[in-house]
Amino acid sequence: MKELENGKKKLLITGMILIIIAICTAGIFAYGSHKNNQKAAAKVQEESVQRASQEQSLAAQKEQEQEARSIAEAELQKALSEAQSRDESIAASEAESREQAQKEAEEASIAQEKAEQEAREEQERQAQGAGLAERLAGYETVSRPAGSTGDIICIDPGHQSRGNNGKEPEGPGSQTMKTKVAGGTGGVVSGVPEYQLTLTIGMMLKTELQNRGYTVVMTRESNDVDISNKERADIATAAGATATIRIHADGVDSASASGASVLVPDSSNPYIPELAGSSSQLGSCIINSYCAATGMKNRGVVGSDNMTGINWSTNPVALLELGFMTNPTDDANMQDDTYQQLMVHGIADGIDAYFGR
Ligand SMILES: [Zn+2]
Repeated sequence: MKELENGKKKLLITGMILIIIAICTAGIFAYGSHKNNQKAAAKVQEESVQRASQEQSLAAQKEQEQEARSIAEAELQKALSEAQSRDESIAASEAESREQAQKEAEEASIAQEKAEQEAREEQERQAQGAGLAERLAGYETVSRPAGSTGDIICIDPGHQSRGNNGKEPEGPGSQTMKTKVAGGTGGVVSGVPEYQLTLTIGMMLKTELQNRGYTVVMTRESNDVDISNKERADIATAAGATATIRIHADGVDSASASGASVLVPDSSNPYIPELAGSSSQLGSCIINSYCAATGMKNRGVVGSDNMTGINWSTNPVALLELGFMTNPTDDANMQDDTYQQLMVHGIADGIDAYFGR
């Protein structure tokens, strides 16, 4: 029995040992497997970290590439837009220089036209000048002894260097007050003021009339005076004038108006209706011979009842508008020496005609 029991014991022990061995083996295995698992997990983790880092660096690379691309694109865009604006500015400057060239060509053509026009005008002037000189030579010089005609002519060169805005009655007994002396007009081409032209012609006429035997009284012999229109009429009255000639020139806004006219009191003048007939006669003689001598357009005799210098007159009076200083041709003519002599001849001839000489 004992042996049997010992055998059982041995078997049991062996079994137990086997079991222990088995357990240990399993444990070892398990441990080993756990280790292996751990290793594998570590490896997987390592690999995943590696992958992640690879992916990260790839992403970073991609990002860099993207950034580089967009910088390059931006630069290209910038370069393109700069090139475009350069092109545009080149185009603009080309257009500008084309325009400039065109403008210069136009100006050159205008200048040429102007030069041709001036040459034509100069030729015309020379031809006219020759014509005027010929015409002047055709006039016989009238010469009579001083004072021989017995007539006293008052010459009133219109205006003065400075107008006078003071007032005076426009005629005897009138309540209507008018400016004493207006400023007058001026030459649109010559720039000569009316008061200078009227004095020039007035002084020339004085000499011409004296040569023709008239006694002449001047209302003024210089520009620097202050004599109102009424006072001018008074000078004629005081001198016992047998006729008064008032010298003026016209001026209007338009350059086209031209020619000469004469203003006289007419029968409806409330102050001196008794002088209407003789004044009209005087005016008609003057304007006709003046325009015949000069070739100036004849605008005729015009009745007037509101001019102080006419209304205060006590002798036949005519106000001659020599021509339009605002008309380039009239203005230029009236500054021409030969033309001025013809003007004076014409006026003097008219006065001779009026007095029947
Ligand atoms: Zn005037």
